[in-house]
Amino acid sequence: MRPELLFPLFKSAESLKGVGPRMMGLLRKLTGEHVIDLVWHLPSGIVTRQKIDHLLPDYVTGQVIVTVTTRKHHPSRSRRVPYKIDCDVNGEALTLTFFNGREDYLKQKLPLDKQRIVAGKLEEYGGVYQITHPDHILDVNDHADISIHEPVYPLTGGITNNMLGKAIQQALSFVPVLPEWQDPTLITREKWIDWKTAVMTVHNPTGEKDLEPESLPRQRLAYDELFANQLALELARRSMKRKKGRSLPSNGTLTEAVIDLLPFALTGAQRRAISEISADLTANYRMLRLVQGDVGSGKTMVALMTILQALENGAQAALMAPTEILARQHLEGLDPYFKQLGLKTTLLTGRLKGKKRAAVLQELAEGTIHVAIGTHALFQEDVQYHDLGLAVIDEQHRFGVHQRLALSAKGKPETGGVDVLVMTATPIPRTLALTAYGDMDVSIIDEKPPGRKPVDTRAIEIERLDALATGLGRKIAENERIYWVCPLVEESEVSDLAAAEDRKTYLEALYPGQVGIVHGKLKSDEKEAAMEAFKSGETQILVATTVIEVGVDVPEATVMIIEHAERFGLAQLHQLRGRVGRGGLAGNCLLLYAGPLGETQKARLKIMRETEDGFVIAEEDLRLRGAGELLGTRQSGLPEFKIAELEKCGHLVTIARDDARLFLEKDPELQSKRGNAVRTLLYLFERDSAIHYLRSG
Ligand code: ADP
Ligand code: MG
Repeated sequence: MRPELLFPLFKSAESLKGVGPRMMGLLRKLTGEHVIDLVWHLPSGIVTRQKIDHLLPDYVTGQVIVTVTTRKHHPSRSRRVPYKIDCDVNGEALTLTFFNGREDYLKQKLPLDKQRIVAGKLEEYGGVYQITHPDHILDVNDHADISIHEPVYPLTGGITNNMLGKAIQQALSFVPVLPEWQDPTLITREKWIDWKTAVMTVHNPTGEKDLEPESLPRQRLAYDELFANQLALELARRSMKRKKGRSLPSNGTLTEAVIDLLPFALTGAQRRAISEISADLTANYRMLRLVQGDVGSGKTMVALMTILQALENGAQAALMAPTEILARQHLEGLDPYFKQLGLKTTLLTGRLKGKKRAAVLQELAEGTIHVAIGTHALFQEDVQYHDLGLAVIDEQHRFGVHQRLALSAKGKPETGGVDVLVMTATPIPRTLALTAYGDMDVSIIDEKPPGRKPVDTRAIEIERLDALATGLGRKIAENERIYWVCPLVEESEVSDLAAAEDRKTYLEALYPGQVGIVHGKLKSDEKEAAMEAFKSGETQILVATTVIEVGVDVPEATVMIIEHAERFGLAQLHQLRGRVGRGGLAGNCLLLYAGPLGETQKARLKIMRETEDGFVIAEEDLRLRGAGELLGTRQSGLPEFKIAELEKCGHLVTIARDDARLFLEKDPELQSKRGNAVRTLLYLFERDSAIHYLRSG
């Protein structure tokens, strides 16, 4: 139950004065619909208005408050001529100017010979002082005053700063004093103020400095949020660990046999990851482990070893990939090993229908199929497993936390659910890893299989496209393969496609019969046929629209051409580049760009030329883009932060993690006085689902 203290904050914003249905609609988009959402909506700017008694040239650019006596209205006939009102400020002339001004409204707001306080930007125009469209006009007789400092909020069309500011000020009047949930030593060390004071201070800035994320009140609020997030993750992790899982120890019958079948020796990093996983499987708690390894680091082998250890215990395993193409690729890569070990696999994707599907489901339910490889289809309602012990999820960043949890449900309850291994090729900066995957244990594969040649990366102006296309003839003669990735047009899939098809036509003219195309609008068998033709060498150039379709392993691929590379994020560019130079041949990556480039775009292309280290690239990406964008907030399972900007407060994340672990170590059930305050914090940041992980509920 949400603590009563917080009730006023979780009321609908519609309960505030001046917030009607129209404004509610806009608030829903801009801030969220509760009073608390307005509290979290922090100012992005500040207007300072000095009180000015005399009009002086010095004030020309200032924000001023003036007392005026209206003298004369000049109504305008034409729309183009502004409506002007002459005023007097202690004997000096000031003109108020309104474009498209409504006469009746202005006459009522600024009646002749009355005193008004007017705030706005004072300018000099043709020797006359004027204010165009004042921000505020108040009657001096009202006790209302115009504040000297006014916060400026991020807005959306249809809401003025004035309207939003008023609503937020009201929302602030509901902010209660809350018990302190932070460690007092930390508060003292960081010189932080209490929560309520911090909120009030943040909304009443008195200078630009108060707007910086580094300002103490903002830091405090950001830390509160990060701490709530880490507590929630830690509670989830602890509850997972507490859940009895099944013990799936290795007896070596399959895992040792497969080592002899592999054409290469496992790298040190692969072996390390495998042994960490093996220990998790052996232990009798449920595994939730993330394997992080750059593209081409050999995660598939780690998956294979994990699956085999589960199978050594008579359990089944499922391997889930984000797309059908990737699922099929896993099947093709792994099936030969499974076959030689006498194990039966199946492909289960959305495409499998009717009788064939029924037959597969029956075998899964009976346990005659040992390993199921597929897409989301693996975990649909009606799919039953005889005894699912392990789920491996490849390319985690495309799956949400909920899907991850849905998997656990497919195991036999009496055996303690399903061990989960998640693999991601997106190197994640430490800060993000802690917030996005803090509930998981992490293994890192930081070494690539030997013999990889570096990929030569260049940025080339799009004007040189013809020369580049002609030059590909040499590569084609050597039977090498070329990916050609077409511009990413966010707004429209259609033009995306058109661009790719145009490019295919263009390349076809140069290399008849050797160009394939793959894009999201193709049916899956068409996609597969296109991929197959490219793999086999029937086509040597593959034009592709999206990142997903090229997330595949074709050892002969040596050239990656990315058109309009300036439109791609660093992580995507890195992923794409990772597709070439896998087969021992040197790779080339050509980043075609259309100038002029913005600073960020330039920086991205530069980093791509300078390094192939996914972790370095990820850190740079975080710096350039910000956290939400980096992983695609929703897809990644990365929590949305209301206040904390991860790229600016990385150090706080680490403190919050340690703090959360230490605290829950001492008070796992949130029973102490601070524990109670911590509960309030979790509710405040809507991380209360974590409360359910408590044994006492
Ligand atoms: P990713 O981590 O991107 O999923 P993969 O598992 O697809 O990487 O491996 C990339 C390539 O490296 C594959 O062709 C795979 O067969 C090969 N590979 C994996 N492990 C090793 C190793 N230890 N030695 C040599 N090649 C390896
Ligand atoms: Mg992979």
